[in-house]
Amino acid sequence: MNDDSSEMSQIGLLKQKLQATKVALEEINDDRNSKLIALTQFITQMSLACKGQNLELDNKLAKLRVNMGNFEHLDEVLPELPEIERLLKSQYHHVMGKLEQGRSGLTNFSRELLRIKHIPEKLSREISIFRQELSKPFHSLWDYIPKVEQLISYYEQALLQNVQDEPLIILPIHRQLSYELAQLISDIEFPKAQREQVLRLKDILASDSLQVETLLEAYQTILRLLLENIAREKATSQEFLQTLNDALTSVRDIVSESFSQTQHSQQLKQQLNGEINNQVNNVLNSLNEIDEISQLKQKVTEHLAEIQNRLARKEALEQREMALLQKSVNTLRKELADLSAETLSYRERLCEQQKINQLDSLTQLPNRAALDERMDQEFRRFQHNNSTLWVAVADIDHFKQINDSFGHSTGDKTLQVIAMALKNSLRDTEFVARYGGEEFVLLIPDVSANDIAQLLNRVREKIKNIPFKFKNQRITVTLSIGAAQVLNGEHILDTFERADAALYKAKHESRDRVIID
Ligand code: GH3
Ligand code: MG
Ligand code: MG
Repeated sequence: MNDDSSEMSQIGLLKQKLQATKVALEEINDDRNSKLIALTQFITQMSLACKGQNLELDNKLAKLRVNMGNFEHLDEVLPELPEIERLLKSQYHHVMGKLEQGRSGLTNFSRELLRIKHIPEKLSREISIFRQELSKPFHSLWDYIPKVEQLISYYEQALLQNVQDEPLIILPIHRQLSYELAQLISDIEFPKAQREQVLRLKDILASDSLQVETLLEAYQTILRLLLENIAREKATSQEFLQTLNDALTSVRDIVSESFSQTQHSQQLKQQLNGEINNQVNNVLNSLNEIDEISQLKQKVTEHLAEIQNRLARKEALEQREMALLQKSVNTLRKELADLSAETLSYRERLCEQQKINQLDSLTQLPNRAALDERMDQEFRRFQHNNSTLWVAVADIDHFKQINDSFGHSTGDKTLQVIAMALKNSLRDTEFVARYGGEEFVLLIPDVSANDIAQLLNRVREKIKNIPFKFKNQRITVTLSIGAAQVLNGEHILDTFERADAALYKAKHESRDRVIID
């Protein structure tokens, strides 16, 4: 009984141990499984991270992930592993090779960057340091990407600097220059052959899409045209001087030829005179020496024949001399007539040029230079005659709006029409010039202080009533005018200042009006 109970207790003990061992084994199993799960999950994640580099590797890893997700298929994973390991190693070498290539690519790009012109010194120093850092190998793609980003930023900076260096953006100063050049062109009269080109240039200068390069080209073209014109003018003057010189040379030749001929004839005549004298002496001697009348008659007849012969030669000589003189005079007269015709045409050309230089090419009104001259002239007349003289300054109101709304060439035409109307509204003794832009100066002599306002208001009304029509729109263009009378003891330039100040007042008092200072 005792033996039975001890056996029983031993079996119970063994059972307990077995149970404990089972539990421990299950724990170990669970632990191993959870580690295996973690490991497979980790490998799955790793395989995902490698995705997208190599198609074969991608396929193998995809299969690996599927098998790893299922414990029953884990055994199938093992034979695949060496192949995957080989593919991974080869991919690693491939990537490292590519990184090395990328590094040398970056080195080359950065060298090119340093060659860009006008690169700031600071940037150039930074790039040099960057290039030194590039000498160390890359270990991963993460070393590579920041370097690429850095290089891109250097390129951006260099590019920005280069764009700033090229003044492609049109600034207000460029607009001002183009406006001034256009004004300058308007003041110069170009020969017919150049007018088309100059008009095109004016359009370009007034265009909204003007570029700095075009502005520079316009300056260059104008300078070239002006130089051409100066050279042409110089050539014309030289041509005239050459003609003058040729004419004077031939006159000198004729004079010296006729002088030497005259000298030669003079000698011949003296010789003939001497011979005639000798013959006369011979006659006298014969009269003294010969008594025989018949002999005397014969001798005297011989001597007289000799004398006659010499006289005939002398007359022939004188006639030849006369004919030569006549010829010389005729040649001289012809030379002088040619020269005077040449001089006349040259003078006409000069006058024409002078007139052109005094006319504003757009409006055909006298220009600023002509105004200065006329002002001097009228002022002198005023001082001398103690008469009345008015200076008026007229400015078109809101003219800029016409340009802005309808274009510069409409603005130009408007200026031409107004200029013509101004000219036609004045008497012959009165004078109007284009002072510049849309401003005109009028010089009005011999009008009393009572009549001047009426006269200028008539001019103002006349302009206001011009039926302008732009783009089918009826437009009224008005003028503001300021005027002042030249006072005794005052210089006309001071009168001009007062007239200008009166114009300023007219502008401030709502425009379209005349103000007399
Ligand atoms: P205000 O009534 O104050 O005189 O105004 P405004 O617009 O007439 O005067 P502002 O001085 O502001 O502008 C004058 C304008 O005249 C600017 C310029 O473009 C224009 N202008 C000057 N000369 C010429 C030219 O020869 N042709 C053209 N089309 N426009 C010109
Ligand atoms: Mg104006
Ligand atoms: Mg003005």
